[in-house]
Amino acid sequence: MFGGAFDPPHWAHRALAETALKQLGLDRMHILPTGQAWHKTRVLIPAEHRVAMCERAFAGLPNVLVDQREIRRDGPSYTADTLAELAAEYPGAQLFLVLGADQLLAFKTWVRWQEVLQCATLAVANRGVNIGAEAVSDSQVEQDLSGVDIPFIRLDMPLHNLSATAVRAQVHGKSRRYPDLDVLVPEGVARYISEHHLYRHAT
Ligand code: ATP
Repeated sequence: MFGGAFDPPHWAHRALAETALKQLGLDRMHILPTGQAWHKTRVLIPAEHRVAMCERAFAGLPNVLVDQREIRRDGPSYTADTLAELAAEYPGAQLFLVLGADQLLAFKTWVRWQEVLQCATLAVANRGVNIGAEAVSDSQVEQDLSGVDIPFIRLDMPLHNLSATAVRAQVHGKSRRYPDLDVLVPEGVARYISEHHLYRHAT
C-alpha cells in the first residue's frame, strides 16, 4: 500500500513506488490517493484530478493499480481501515506500507497506529530535513531515523529533494527555479496540470 495526498504526484513518488516494487518484490501495489486527509490543514484539489494524475504518474510500472477506496469512503481516510480491508482481500499475504521518512517520524500521531503495525511492515525511504517549498534545495541533509523505536525496513533510494508543496509553488509562480515542470513531475502529470489550469492560486 502506498498512500498519499498526491496533490500532485511527483517524481519522488514514482521513484519510491519503483524502488519498493523492486526491492520488496511486490506482486501488487495499491496506490491510494487519500479522501479527507485528517492530518493536512490545507484543502486538497478535487479527488478526480488527483486520481487522473496518479494514473499518469505511475503509468507503466508493473503490478500497480490506482485504488480509489479512500476517496469513496465517507469520513476521514485512516490507513488502519484501508489495511484491514486489504488484509481481508489478500488472505495470507504479507502487506507492506510504503512511506517517506517524514511520515515515519510522525507515525505515532496516526490514528490507530498500533493496528497499522499489526497489519503491515513499514517500508521507508529517507527524505531531506526540509520537505516544504524548500525541499528542492541542493544541500539537503537526510532525516536521522536512528531514534525511531518502531520496526521498519529501509528502502534503498537516493534522496529526492522534492515535495508536492514545491511543485505547487513552482506552478503558482512563487518559485521559478526550473523552466519546465517535467523536471518535477512526470510528463503526463505536467501536461494534465497545464491543461486543467491547476495550482494557479495560492494553496
Ligand atoms: P506536500 O508537500 O503537499 O505535503 P508530499 O510531497 O509530502 O506533499 P504526499 O502526497 O503527502 O507528498 O506524500 C505521500 C508519501 O510519499 C508520504 O509517505 C511521503 O513521505 C512520501 N514522499 C513524498 N515526497 C517524498 C520524497 N521526496 N522522498 C521520499 N518520500 C517522499
